[in-house]
Amino acid sequence: MNKWVYTFGNGKAEGDASMRNLLGGKGANLAEMNKVGLPVPPGFTVTTEVCTYYYNNDHSYPADLKDQVREAVAYVEGIMGKKFADANNPLLFSVRSGARVSMPGMMDTVLNLGLNDETVKALAKASGSERFAYDSYRRFLQMFSDVVLGADLDLYEEALENMKKSKGYKSDTDLTAEDLKELVKEYKEIGLKIGKVVPQDPWEQLWAGIGAVFGSWMVDRAITYRKLNNIPGDWGTAVNVQTMVFGNAGDDCATGVCFSRDPATGENVYYGEYLVNAQGEDVVAGIRTPQPMASKGDGTSLEEKWPHLYQELVDVRNNLEAHYKDMQDMEFTIEEGKLFFLQTRNGKRTANAALRIAVEMVDEGLITTDEALLRVEPKQLDQLLHPAFDQAALKAAKALGKGLPASPGAAAGKIYFTAEEAKAAAEAGDRVILVRLETSPEDIEGMAASQGILTVRGGMTSHAAVVARGMGTCCVS
Ligand code: ADP
Ligand code: MG
Repeated sequence: MNKWVYTFGNGKAEGDASMRNLLGGKGANLAEMNKVGLPVPPGFTVTTEVCTYYYNNDHSYPADLKDQVREAVAYVEGIMGKKFADANNPLLFSVRSGARVSMPGMMDTVLNLGLNDETVKALAKASGSERFAYDSYRRFLQMFSDVVLGADLDLYEEALENMKKSKGYKSDTDLTAEDLKELVKEYKEIGLKIGKVVPQDPWEQLWAGIGAVFGSWMVDRAITYRKLNNIPGDWGTAVNVQTMVFGNAGDDCATGVCFSRDPATGENVYYGEYLVNAQGEDVVAGIRTPQPMASKGDGTSLEEKWPHLYQELVDVRNNLEAHYKDMQDMEFTIEEGKLFFLQTRNGKRTANAALRIAVEMVDEGLITTDEALLRVEPKQLDQLLHPAFDQAALKAAKALGKGLPASPGAAAGKIYFTAEEAKAAAEAGDRVILVRLETSPEDIEGMAASQGILTVRGGMTSHAAVVARGMGTCCVS
């Protein structure tokens, strides 16, 4: 019998960091973090071999996969003391892709899976917050419709924007339970109208979610990213199914992204951003401008707001750096004052940062000089030779605006407001600068074709910032 599913949870895991080829980077590290004793919500990983099987067998699964998934769900239910699809105290999952090497934002994630018209009521009751339950439900409907059903995301965004506008709200967090219930109704009407109806049955949701992750391995933007980064198409992706923790359940909740060192300069400081009362994608999507982790003296940082949690975060950071002996890029969520880690991986960095980190890690005794040399990719050195502004000319110039230095360099070109136009203009021989409200994975080809990228929203960990740094393209967000 082939083993297709590997569980993790409660400080135990069937996999570990060395099993990246089979479990994908995310799955291997989720297993490893469990073994290191970090607080990681339990779950399981469906292997990359299932993805390969899926594409070699006409989009079908191995016969014994269903049973193995059912057993894994039961295992997680045992740890959590809740049941998936239970109408009284439902267990909810995220379904997350994870290839061998990280492909930021390339593959799609569905959060809050398992919610339907019944379980949402149970969640409201169990949590004592209708607002939270319906916020989770409308997020689920939106993500599932987008990722799994391929619906036009704009329709849902528009409904959300209209709701906020009609009520005079500035932020998503201003929405009340009643507003969110209404929004859920509107989302369902949109689904009916365009023929993309989210199934009510949680098991159906789960299988559709798993299928969507495997399906997304072969979408254009994933293929483009692989081409740009020399990743073979036959590696496949794993699927991680993980118990949800909620950063959107109130003002003692948050979600964040952090780096164990500054990914732009390499400086040995704890670097990151977080948002109170928010879920996963909100930080990277740049929906609200996030706040810094470390204190800047103005009271907005996590360090000042929750000193004890900050200390826990610092401990985990030190723990993970010592364990992996490399700069880490981490995701965390705080649910009602309790910290959970959702991901760690070796962080992408600029060439400057790569050099500095490699040298300093030798000085700190973490790695040898030979290891340090291997940490700096030849391609990265190219970044150091990128254009920079003439400082004297800069002083004389008049700034139109100001933003965060998401990725270093200097760029000049005509501005374009869509990725398609930017790409077309670059192909026609123009130097272009892509200007977007925020970027998303669909923009990847336009980003690759641009000299520089400018976004209105988002911080240092936004999609635009992460991808631009990886490409060595100048980006202001
Ligand atoms: P990506 O590979 O694009 O980073 P992820 O699978 O890591 O996608 O997830 C997207 C976002 O959702 C991240 O912010 C992540 O922390 C969050 N997320 C994923 N799974 C969970 C979960 N079980 N509970 C809470 N948040 C989650
Ligand atoms: Mg992630």
